[in-house]
Amino acid sequence: MRNERADILVISPHPDDAEFGVAGTVAKWVKEGKSVIYVICTSGEKGIDDINIKPEELAKIREKEQLEAARVLGVSEVIFLRYPDQELEDTPEFRKEIVTLIRKYKPEIVVTSDPYRRYIWHRDHRIVGRVVLDAVFPYARDIWSYPDLLKKGLKPHKVKEVWLWASENINYRSDITETFDLKVRALRCHKSQIKESFSVEMEKWLCKRAKTIAQYEKFELAEGFHRIEIWW
Ligand SMILES: [Zn+2]
Repeated sequence: MRNERADILVISPHPDDAEFGVAGTVAKWVKEGKSVIYVICTSGEKGIDDINIKPEELAKIREKEQLEAARVLGVSEVIFLRYPDQELEDTPEFRKEIVTLIRKYKPEIVVTSDPYRRYIWHRDHRIVGRVVLDAVFPYARDIWSYPDLLKKGLKPHKVKEVWLWASENINYRSDITETFDLKVRALRCHKSQIKESFSVEMEKWLCKRAKTIAQYEKFELAEGFHRIEIWW
């Protein structure tokens, strides 16, 4: 069976969030020989301003776009959980599903959306971030959290680091100077979200942002994260 484990698990609320948040770093990790798996919690079927495109249809389009973007970056597998868009909740079932994936793939690093962004922030982004943080610690780590998972051979796993994108409290800047172009290419796969006419403007905006994040570093372009190292 392939992909028995992954070095990095990226857990994204919708298709395209991971590309905005971490694609440059993902491409860099892949170039370094690390394996990256994507988990997409909802298929973003409500993310369009067009009454003629039904959610079921959009889900299929967006999954395809996500697979294309993952291929551009060299992501080894994309797992779609298919929770309903805009309806994610912090439930025991959702948490357990994330714990199951962490125990199965045993990543050193888990990357997701920062749940502690204030004010206007997509509710799904907030929920996913919170659930992932709880799943990493203590639920994936503790032996008695899920005796049934243990019986299935899914042993506790200690994640070493969690990286949160879209953070208001950036404490780590990842050099994406060499992979910025791949990030843009991957984002352009999300055609239902980024119109062709906007893509040049988007690239300029992304570049400006990546330069601002990298302004006190020795490199030119960066993605910013709130990075948590777990010592215990
Ligand atoms: Zn999103």
